[in-house]
Amino acid sequence: NEVTREKGNKGFVPLYCDFESFYNQNLYRRVRDCWNRPICSTPGAWFNVMERVSPDYNWHLNLTGKSSRCINLGSYNYLGFAENSGPCAEASLETLIKYGAGVCSTRQELGNLDIHIELEKLVAQFLGLESAMVFGMGFATNALNIPALLGKGCLILSDELNHSSLVLGCRLSGALVKTFKHDDMKNLEIRLRQSIINGQPRTHRPWKKILIIVEGVYSMEGSIAILPELVRLKKKYNAYLYLDEAHSIGALGPNGRGVVDYYGMDPRDVDIMMGTFTKSFGAAGGYIAGTKELIAHLKFRSHSSVYATSMSPPVAQQIISSMKSIMGLDGTNTGSQRLQRLAWNTRYFRRRLHEMGFIVYGNDDSPVVPLLIYLPSKVVAFCRECLKRKLGVVVVGFPATSIIGGRARFCMSASHTKEMLDTALDVIKEVETILQLKYSKLPIEKK
Ligand code: PMP
Repeated sequence: NEVTREKGNKGFVPLYCDFESFYNQNLYRRVRDCWNRPICSTPGAWFNVMERVSPDYNWHLNLTGKSSRCINLGSYNYLGFAENSGPCAEASLETLIKYGAGVCSTRQELGNLDIHIELEKLVAQFLGLESAMVFGMGFATNALNIPALLGKGCLILSDELNHSSLVLGCRLSGALVKTFKHDDMKNLEIRLRQSIINGQPRTHRPWKKILIIVEGVYSMEGSIAILPELVRLKKKYNAYLYLDEAHSIGALGPNGRGVVDYYGMDPRDVDIMMGTFTKSFGAAGGYIAGTKELIAHLKFRSHSSVYATSMSPPVAQQIISSMKSIMGLDGTNTGSQRLQRLAWNTRYFRRRLHEMGFIVYGNDDSPVVPLLIYLPSKVVAFCRECLKRKLGVVVVGFPATSIIGGRARFCMSASHTKEMLDTALDVIKEVETILQLKYSKLPIEKK
């Protein structure tokens, strides 16, 4: 069964082995048990040094290996705003000169600047909600705000594939956390029903609050939250809904306003809207938006508000400029052009991969495009073979996915040209012939 062994990984998992031998030889156990030792099946351990060599972030120089200019198909630069030139960068530069890079104080102390207030008003306007609050880090926005919203005696129903920042926030809250199957609304309803004492009226259920937590677009699956059903269920069972729009805000919906925009729904149906500025806005930080009461509560109860230094002003400016562009408030239509370009690129790239016979997960409109590779050794090899051919991709394996659920995760960007995507597709095709990624029989997951 073993044809070739991966060089350098001490014969850890053979590069060419079928799924049966992967399980029969107990190789899956070795992957599971060893992932955090030096022989690592997740390529995140590589830490390649990359240098930007184009203003639009789409070309990188791989400094770790043989220096070569490569196309970037792995960053979450959905709208292409992570630029180092153009109106957004110029405005941020002016702000840097006006305010400096750091505030050196929390919002409650001396770190509350006019630019923060302006940004929060804009975020609320963009989302169509009453109020918003911004934080210096997206990860901390989840990890530190969820504990401010609920605690002991509360119940969290969390999608099993939620991001680690959400998982951490749930754990820190002290609430009881139950997971439901990814995107499975029937399973969520079963969990909700179980949480209510049989025959008792709703007010007599044993929980102070029930919070359902989901993501807008899942960054490993490319799936989109089934918002209409989630809203129906949360209303039926008198629960609250927390929506993490890290990968959907700016990247989904005709106006870039995320999942709500995608389904044409009322944003007020979501109780807690969360998102990050690290993807579509090419910046840093996160936000929570909702009612005035929600934001007033978080201002004084959230550790990320009370104990963390406020957002860097040039970063805030970058978000203001890119958001205004998406909203068409910059006097141009470049924002809507970016949205259209992203939508076109997404559909084109997915369609071509399907035509080439690959297994691609997720919704047709999701800018995250996961291509299934399955075997851990092939996951690593795929990344390296692409990089050799000047294509920078992110591959993900265990523990971010199941042991045999390894995949390449392509991220589309409005600033990718058709030529770039075609070149990338040619590389993927070539790598496929080396690694044999089309399987006649798909694996059955073992836990
Ligand atoms: N939520 C989700 C769903 C994410 O994927 C991420 C990171 N990619 C975060 C939160 C954390 O955001 P940040 O990277 O901006 O800190």
